[in-house]
Amino acid sequence: MNTNIKKLIGQFLCTLFALGLVPALYFKSEFNRIDVDYALNIKQSSKNQIEYIFHKLASIMKETFNAVPSMADSKILLRAIKDPSLDHQQALNDQWVVLAQSHQYYSRLRYLDLDGNEVFNLSYNNQKATMVPSNELQNKSSRSYFKTLQQLHIGEVKSDNIDLELDHGEIAYPLAPVLRIMTPVTSEGRILGYFIANLDMLKIYKRLIYQVSSSATEPVILNKLGHIILGPNIEEAFGHLIEAHSDNTYAKQYPKLWLSIQSETSSSYFDGDNWYFHSRIDANLTQLSDPAYMVIRMQNQQFKKQYLKDKQSTVIQSVALFILISIISVAFVLWNRNHKKNSIESQVAKAAMNGMSALVITNRNNRIIKVNQEFTRVSGYEFEDVKGRQPSMFASGRYTQEFYINMWTELQKVGVWEGEVVNRCKDGSLITEILRIQTIKDSKGIIQFYVASFVDISKHKALEKKLRALSEKDTLAECWNRRKFDLELREECRRVDHSPSQSQSCLAVLDIDHFKRINDSFGHDYGDRVIQKVAKTLQRESRENDLVARIGGEEFGIIFPKTTTEEAEFILNRLKVAVSIEFDDIVTVSCGVTNITNDPTLNYKCADLALYEAKAAGRNNVCLLLSSEMSEIA
Ligand code: GH3
Ligand code: MG
Ligand code: MG
Repeated sequence: MNTNIKKLIGQFLCTLFALGLVPALYFKSEFNRIDVDYALNIKQSSKNQIEYIFHKLASIMKETFNAVPSMADSKILLRAIKDPSLDHQQALNDQWVVLAQSHQYYSRLRYLDLDGNEVFNLSYNNQKATMVPSNELQNKSSRSYFKTLQQLHIGEVKSDNIDLELDHGEIAYPLAPVLRIMTPVTSEGRILGYFIANLDMLKIYKRLIYQVSSSATEPVILNKLGHIILGPNIEEAFGHLIEAHSDNTYAKQYPKLWLSIQSETSSSYFDGDNWYFHSRIDANLTQLSDPAYMVIRMQNQQFKKQYLKDKQSTVIQSVALFILISIISVAFVLWNRNHKKNSIESQVAKAAMNGMSALVITNRNNRIIKVNQEFTRVSGYEFEDVKGRQPSMFASGRYTQEFYINMWTELQKVGVWEGEVVNRCKDGSLITEILRIQTIKDSKGIIQFYVASFVDISKHKALEKKLRALSEKDTLAECWNRRKFDLELREECRRVDHSPSQSQSCLAVLDIDHFKRINDSFGHDYGDRVIQKVAKTLQRESRENDLVARIGGEEFGIIFPKTTTEEAEFILNRLKVAVSIEFDDIVTVSCGVTNITNDPTLNYKCADLALYEAKAAGRNNVCLLLSSEMSEIA
């Protein structure tokens, strides 16, 4: 993978970690809280259910329990015992029916004599009270609870455990769980027999179930062995009494739960699917003689729904936040990259600004917005001097409007212009620059800036000029040399050839007369000085635009631009006189002159021929030979 991409991914992950750490910790604690709340919620909810059911049960038991002594102490009962006449029996029947109907939970009210014989037996079932006929009354002395009855003291009320209703010694079906509340019936400090009220535990159970919230499944009451003695499916209960149900015990079916039930007074248990809450109830339910437990099974799904809902909304929040943080991280990484790039670019720009070239930056209206130090050094202008002004302020006036129009056209078209320009500095001096102007466009291609960079080549130019001059000057005579003369003659020929209608130009060749003699008479050095002096005189006496060159040992050439032959002759005569005056007639010159055409060789020959004529005519003369005459001679 590209190291750049790796770096970006690294930066992204670091940013994500930095930004996401606190929210991640928050969401972790939030998920924990949901888990804890979930368990707490279940526990609290079931605890409330158990407590509610238990208190309801306790209050029903207490109420029914408390009613028993007054029933046993009833005068109507005593009268019926002592005198079991039909009237008395009927009165007792009426009283018990009323009691059964008012209390609802009694399934049987009985009176047993001391031998365990049932004397009065009222069964109350489905709102129907029936006094058991005397021929169906049984002896209960063989029943286990008879022993309890025999041990009862006067005024004592006792119950056994929840048991099943029997019919002639056999378990009655449908199963009818009962709790017998027993108390002695006394008269004058003597126990006459026993009053037993059977509590219909199924009815009580249904009453409890009816009142509990729908979120809980029906509670189950277990005996000390773990057998169900009250529950939603009573047909499967009482495994300790019914052989067929013996396996229906929590001890066998839910061994771990059963362990928890036995070891804790009140606790919760989760088997992976369901929550169980149990509480030992016999401690506060004095009517029960043996340990008994209440268990509530809560279906996990009921709570799981809310739990999942809470979790889902937290997951959505965390995912949304994660996406947001990711976007922020990506944005940060990109910003950081751009920032770095920009900072590098700005450093590069800064370095370029302070480079060797002078820089002038203008806006799209061509107003100066920035210059660099080199510009100030070269031009003498500070930024404050040029700020907001146009670069035309530097114009030297050397260029035509056309020059600038061409420059702008090229800039608009190509975006770059390069060239050599002479501009004016703050102190008025001129500088020659190699100038490059570049446009900077925006994304729509519209020019926003112009960057002009230039290098001052004035010194190079001056040097070049000097070198050129040196190469074209005659060191002895200090006038132009033969090389320059040939160049200028060719140039003049070209000029004349291009515009023949314009005034003519002339070429003259001068030679010092009898120079050999001068050399011979005064020495070579003197001869040299004569050459120098002649050259000086010729330059001094000729016009500014005339070009005087030493083209041979003691021979000079003069180009007269835009000069007629008459004018040339006139000037040459003046020069001739000036030389002779300068040397008191000791040194004279002869001149041959011709008009310039397009052929430099021919012109030279022509002038030379004219010179020859001047010499031949006795020297110190000026002779004219027109080019046309020369061609005729040829
Ligand atoms: P004329 O009138 O016919 O021109 O006669 P002249 O003696 O000048 O003859 P010519 O032009 O042929 O001779 C030129 C002489 O000039 C020859 C040479 O010795 C001399 N000479 C050429 N160059 C130099 C120079 O640089 N210095 C000096 N001192 N003498 C030179
Ligand atoms: Mg000569
Ligand atoms: Mg000569």
